[in-house]
Amino acid sequence: MTHSIAERIAEIRSQVPDSVRIVAVSKTVSVEAIRIAYAAGIRDFGENRISEAMEKQEQLQDLSDITWHLIGHVQSNKAIKAVQHFQWIHSVDSLKLAQRLDRLAQESDCQPQVCLQVKILSDPNKYGWTVSELLDDLAELNQCQQIQIKGLMTIPPLGLNHSETLSVFEQTRELAHKIQQQGWSNIEMKELSMGMSGDYTLAIPAGATMIRPGQIIFGVRTP
Ligand SMILES: *Cc1c(COP(=O)(O)O)cnc(C)c1O
Repeated sequence: MTHSIAERIAEIRSQVPDSVRIVAVSKTVSVEAIRIAYAAGIRDFGENRISEAMEKQEQLQDLSDITWHLIGHVQSNKAIKAVQHFQWIHSVDSLKLAQRLDRLAQESDCQPQVCLQVKILSDPNKYGWTVSELLDDLAELNQCQQIQIKGLMTIPPLGLNHSETLSVFEQTRELAHKIQQQGWSNIEMKELSMGMSGDYTLAIPAGATMIRPGQIIFGVRTP
């Protein structure tokens, strides 16, 4: 890509309503690149590996108004670090994990904001609740008082065309609406974390409140 990180951020920002939070996915990216994105106005960064994120947080302590978002699956032995080192956890993908995070957050005296990861279409390669599983678990999720359940997160399966992808995002919004209508005391459904580099332009018209672009900001990731 020929444009700089700052130019790419300015371009995305110009396409995205002010109300939509851009969570720049900085997994595998250097702290120098994160500093450039910060200087270009980004305050939200997404990481999928806790140990990698903690090293970066250590080196970026001077940028004290960064909000760190965890976007990857949380192994149960890492759950304590997840609640202690991230203000947002987008990838809460089971009742068991939610309950564990809730208990650990209580013990650690922190209140992470979380999204529930949902699979609108069946996808054996992804973590998350199916729609019917999620509806079944809401009563127990509502008992989680320490984590702040704010909305839904989704990742469409690979290989969908535009209209299929748009449909996944719209169904996610409709599901959030349905859950909200049920009036749970501890479950808010204001946030929709959806849209990555390849599909954020579809997620926004479908109602995304947080998008998670990575490569389109920082350049192609070489694994
Ligand atoms: C890697 C990742 C992203 C960013 O993907 P890009 O293709 O780099 O935009 C967003 N969300 C999740 C959950 C990811 O794992």
